[in-house]
Amino acid sequence: MQIWDGRTGRIVWEGLSDLTLGQETIREERIRFDDTIRATWEALVEEIPFAPDALDEPPPEVPRSPVPRVVALLVAVGLSPLDDFHHQAKAFGMKAYMAGDAAEIAEASAATFGGRIEALRIAKDLGLDVPEVPEDWHRKLQVLKAHPGETVEWRPPESDLPVYPVLRCTQEIPCNPCSTVCPKHTILMEGDPILGRPYFTGTECTGCAKCIAICPGLAVTMVDFRKDPERPVVTVPFEQTDVEVEPDTMVMATDHEGQPIGMFRVVRVNRPKFADRTRLVRLEATPATANLIAGIRTQDPAVAEPIETIPPGPIDDDVIICRCEHITAGEIRTAIREGTRDINEMKASLRVCMGACCGKNCPEHIERLFRDEGVDLGEVTRATTRPLFVEVPFGVFARGGEEGGEG
Ligand code: SF4
Ligand code: SF4
Repeated sequence: MQIWDGRTGRIVWEGLSDLTLGQETIREERIRFDDTIRATWEALVEEIPFAPDALDEPPPEVPRSPVPRVVALLVAVGLSPLDDFHHQAKAFGMKAYMAGDAAEIAEASAATFGGRIEALRIAKDLGLDVPEVPEDWHRKLQVLKAHPGETVEWRPPESDLPVYPVLRCTQEIPCNPCSTVCPKHTILMEGDPILGRPYFTGTECTGCAKCIAICPGLAVTMVDFRKDPERPVVTVPFEQTDVEVEPDTMVMATDHEGQPIGMFRVVRVNRPKFADRTRLVRLEATPATANLIAGIRTQDPAVAEPIETIPPGPIDDDVIICRCEHITAGEIRTAIREGTRDINEMKASLRVCMGACCGKNCPEHIERLFRDEGVDLGEVTRATTRPLFVEVPFGVFARGGEEGGEG
């Protein structure tokens, strides 16, 4: 989510919220889509610093105006484009706007930037006094949507400076804040200024740690030999907000692949103003390990082990595939074995894709069942998409469309 100053276009706050639901949880207990939106939304709203002095700088004074200061809220809710209303609106010649994963699944930065463009278009269409969308914004959006490029193998840096950053960014992705934030302009991008990989020029580093704090991929650390050449201090980013890391405790440091390197003493933990919610954990390392330390591990490694209960083989017959109409994998499998190759036929015979979700959930699972049965998906006719609908009680019609009351 981003909050902008409606007059200056300046982003005054932005935040990101993820919600991860385990497959087993979904299977045991139905989770409504709007509940997931509500949960992620509440998490984001709690993070908004409402006090003006919590912002980096106070918003500029502007004359009072009916134009709201906040002109766009962008909520990213996942990779399933529920864009039926948008297409219906377009089909009926209505003004409709779309951004984020609904428009195209790409990097989050493309989603937020696309939302910015759409917000300006909305403001313009509402008759507000806002500038046209600058032409270079469209070009930038195309760059941000670009697919990741080549990946290279990471190698430890060879620097003889007393303090320097260690960049572990090995893939060409549309990202460059480490480069733009460096006050010494000592991190540059190979080739394209946004799509290229960053590299440290090796000329100068003040040890300000801004590149560590800003990197969304936690791909930057810093090695500092200035106080003691035998005991360099390594700064790593840390973003687990529910875990405390105390100075003078020992923590397990890991390399860029998450493999343990050893236990190291925490020298200091701080959260500079420029770091948003990222804390900077400083470890006392050794010259041999300093370049290798990429992060710290604070949880039991068993937590990150793959869940063994996910069945590796075919879906069990009694698993419900269509949750709206309660159609099991066994019923669909029987239809496939009897020769059905058209999911629309299944809609008529079994009622899959015919429930309240309008066929948003089950087609992918049905296709998996076809694959499990050895059927080439090229032979399968996909389900015709149904438009989203909202159930309306008869009482609403009886009252001539007025809200309220019982039907
Ligand atoms: S620590 Fe500061 S000066 Fe050094 S590379 Fe990073 S941003 Fe630039
Ligand atoms: S900010 Fe991080 S992820 Fe982005 S280019 Fe720099 S090192 Fe890579």
